[in-house]
Amino acid sequence: MTDVAERAQQQLFLPTPPTFSSVEEERLHRKQRLAAGFRLFSRCGFDEGVAGHITARDPELTDHFWVNPFGMHFSQIRVSDLILVNQEGRVVEGGRMVNAAAFAIHSQVHEARPDVVAAAHAHSVYGKSWSSLGRLLDPLTQDACAFYNDHALLDDYTGVVLDVEEGRRIATTLDQQKAIILRNHGLLTVGQSVDEAVWWFITMERTCQAQLMAEAAGTPKKIGAEAARLTQTQVGSHIAGWFSFQPLWDRITREQPDLFD
Ligand SMILES: [Zn+2]
Repeated sequence: MTDVAERAQQQLFLPTPPTFSSVEEERLHRKQRLAAGFRLFSRCGFDEGVAGHITARDPELTDHFWVNPFGMHFSQIRVSDLILVNQEGRVVEGGRMVNAAAFAIHSQVHEARPDVVAAAHAHSVYGKSWSSLGRLLDPLTQDACAFYNDHALLDDYTGVVLDVEEGRRIATTLDQQKAIILRNHGLLTVGQSVDEAVWWFITMERTCQAQLMAEAAGTPKKIGAEAARLTQTQVGSHIAGWFSFQPLWDRITREQPDLFD
């Protein structure tokens, strides 16, 4: 490599996950990403009345999580609107109620998966349509391979999840994977950052859409097991999930800076 090329390469910028000097700084970062996640969910059309929740574990009180207030539209959520919920489902910061289903599901997922910082769930159209088939997603596209051998199916529907027992069943079925299809209900994704969980949700929804379209049009050819496994490691890693979210963050924070309020 020439000196010029070396120098040019050294100056190239590539975003990397941040590090923090205090829990206050880390908490604010998680809340900002969370507010941006809701704005993106709204922009993607993942709102269905009052359904849906994204949670971020508090970096200090690690059995507490930040979540959207019940009944507030995703498109209007600001950092200051987020509420903090403890391990018993009580709101300990913020003046609005938590959705009982958000607590029943997310508390159990956060408890079962200490590695999980964030979990995302919404009643998005393609995700819930796909969920009614009671099938895992196939590796039909490069993007779909992020979920190859890395998502679960809760092959049952018993009503709105209001009981932590049902939340525990979801967490047990999810196991160590990044996503779960809740039959007749929708999708849920998790990540080691808010960025990652939100990205997996967005791309999983589109993966459901792609498979529904492909199967409606004909008989899609699947990617072979070996290539799918390899691609999973390339597009399905924690860092790949985090990185894929960054342009969405840039877009939404430029368009809707009031989310920081
Ligand atoms: Zn739901």
